[in-house]
Amino acid sequence: MTKNEALRALPAVEVLLQHPQVQTLQSAYGRSLTVAVTREVLQAARERILKNNGAAQAPGAEQLAKQASRLLSKLTTPSLQSLINATGVIIHTNLGRVPLSQAAREAMMAVAKDYNTLEYDKRRGKRGSRSIHASDLICRFTGAESALIVNNNASALLLILSAFAKRKGVVISRSQLIEIGGGFRIPDIMKQSGAKLIEVGTTNRTHVRDFADAIEDESNRAALLLRVHHSNFRIVGFTTEPTLDELAALSRQHDLLVVDDLGSGALLDTADFGLGHEPTVQESLAAGADLICFSGDKLLGGPQAGIIIGKSELVHKLARHPLTRAVRPDKLCLAALSTTLLHYLRDEATQQIPVWRMISMPIAEIETRATALAQAVRERSKLTVEVIPGESTVGGGSLPEETLPTHLLALQVANIEKFVRSLRAHNVIARIQDNRVVCDPRTILNKDDKQLVDALVKSAPS
Ligand SMILES: *Cc1c(COP(=O)(O)O)cnc(C)c1O
Repeated sequence: MTKNEALRALPAVEVLLQHPQVQTLQSAYGRSLTVAVTREVLQAARERILKNNGAAQAPGAEQLAKQASRLLSKLTTPSLQSLINATGVIIHTNLGRVPLSQAAREAMMAVAKDYNTLEYDKRRGKRGSRSIHASDLICRFTGAESALIVNNNASALLLILSAFAKRKGVVISRSQLIEIGGGFRIPDIMKQSGAKLIEVGTTNRTHVRDFADAIEDESNRAALLLRVHHSNFRIVGFTTEPTLDELAALSRQHDLLVVDDLGSGALLDTADFGLGHEPTVQESLAAGADLICFSGDKLLGGPQAGIIIGKSELVHKLARHPLTRAVRPDKLCLAALSTTLLHYLRDEATQQIPVWRMISMPIAEIETRATALAQAVRERSKLTVEVIPGESTVGGGSLPEETLPTHLLALQVANIEKFVRSLRAHNVIARIQDNRVVCDPRTILNKDDKQLVDALVKSAPS
């Protein structure tokens, strides 16, 4: 066949649309989308014929219909899909950070379904305030005077700096000029807010005196002292940093603000669960920080949100700032956050909030599950599987280097890359360790045990 013959042999769009298989696609995906995709498939076939140097060949209607079907299926599959997190990293930013509690999910569904009191005061029959939702609960649990919820913690920090330090100096230790990931760098946020960065001290040692000197230098026009949690790294050895209490005392002498970006923002003490101590929100308040900000979807275990707490007068000023409207949270977020905070108030966080359930999961329970999973895999495949001791991590920029003991499902396969690729195709994200593929039951939700075994069995080399 010559190229021209091959081009002429291609069916016309109208003809292809009458093909029974394409008709089926039309009822499944609707006419417009099917027509558009059919055109694309034909165009691609034309281009292939023109590019081809050897003998030309036209695909038949059947083949083109199959291509259209594949493309339609790909196009209509959501890109945001559920996954099984077998990595053992509890707060996994790439995997959506944290699952929500059942009650939080139900609360989201409820506000999604109906009209609601997002900005309506039912009692007075008037417009109400969006900012009341969740704020009272976080204040009650932490003892803060006032709270404001925004879209995420990065916007919380941007808002605080914009409102209180525009064209003024923000003093920060050199050890805290961090990058968190996703391009979030403290110096960049500072620039964006219009604040002037005044870095003091050194990478490993910064003293209160360094802060005092920067404040006393009037050309700096210091307005705010900022402490930022190191997030995902640790400085060890010969190090010093002023405590928040010291910074608060200094700021009072000079009538400045102290702001604490806690990052993860633990509401419970991680040291009670065999981990190192992650600074808590309550400790920052007690130390005298004027404003504290942290994430809703890290150790708190709720939806993506930024939570700002602190002195009423300051929080009210933030609430009135024009940027606040641009970073406001939506109703789904507020519903899930309120419900998550209620778990803390009811002392049921470790039973109801997945992050805390995973952190507090008894090692015996993990071993029992790992053993049962291994047994199920052995019964259904020839995979070489063992249960070995291992380590889980918290992740999410909290407790770097800290681990929790766990039991791992360890699989020995000849072609590791191929095996994990197949697991990914079955929506399982595993870890590779010492030439083995390992799955950590700690981060695998109980409801997913069967799906995990299915995926492992299906991915086993035949
Ligand atoms: C994670 C983190 C942020 C960003 O929080 P998001 O809620 O992801 O926007 C800011 N500061 C610190 C110290 C963090 O760890």
